Amino acid sequence: MNPKSLTIAIDGYSSTGKSTLAKDLAVALGLNYIDSGAMYRAVALYALENNLVINGKVSPVLKDKLGEIQISFHFNPENKKSDTQLNGKNVEDQIRSARVNAIVSEVAAIPEVRRHLVRLQQKMGQTGGVVMDGRDIGSVVFPSAELKIFMTADESVRIKRRWNELREKGFESTLEEVRENIQHRDHLDTTREDSPLIKTEDAIILDNSSLSREEQLDIAVNWAKKAMKSMALQTR
Ligand code: C5P
Repeated sequence: MNPKSLTIAIDGYSSTGKSTLAKDLAVALGLNYIDSGAMYRAVALYALENNLVINGKVSPVLKDKLGEIQISFHFNPENKKSDTQLNGKNVEDQIRSARVNAIVSEVAAIPEVRRHLVRLQQKMGQTGGVVMDGRDIGSVVFPSAELKIFMTADESVRIKRRWNELREKGFESTLEEVRENIQHRDHLDTTREDSPLIKTEDAIILDNSSLSREEQLDIAVNWAKKAMKSMALQTR
């Protein structure tokens, strides 16, 4: 079975290592990796840069501006990573900043924003051969994905991971600030009315609290191989 037709959906709480696993799986299996969170982050950055966040609240005007927001991913040969571009500008670092973290889940709760981005995500993955991570990938974006993984990890592990990630990017914050932000985003993501974060029945839970990067990749590659085998049986 050719992995090029496989679709892998990875969902889970903030800072559970979804994008690390998704990137590793993409390299191991020759799939395209799409970071759906980066797209919500890019819309949040657009809102901040265009004065559409007033006293911490997102202006309803953002809904009318969605047609003006172009989001794309460009391979960066220097670091061999895919950079997010917003209206032609590389915003890969800016979308990971604390000011975007603070507002992104409010932006992601707006139904019009979700509809717009889900449509783009489905287009990007329409031919298969894709691994996408986010909060609604297995439930809304690709409900027929052949492999769905729901990631979780102990909160203290997640806080430390996000804090390290922010530090590496040059953003200083305290562990307490990171904890508050993770809890705030998880709360909004699981309680919003439109496509909240849920574990679908057919998703497999991966708790990586005490797994190394290599161990979690091994587990997921085995699941992907099994998924490909059953795809092959079904197409016989
Ligand atoms: O995955 P990441 O932490 O970069 O996502 C940023 C935010 O975007 C999440 O906290 C969530 O509010 C939102 N998001 C979403 N649906 C997705 C991906 C991300 O609501 N598919």
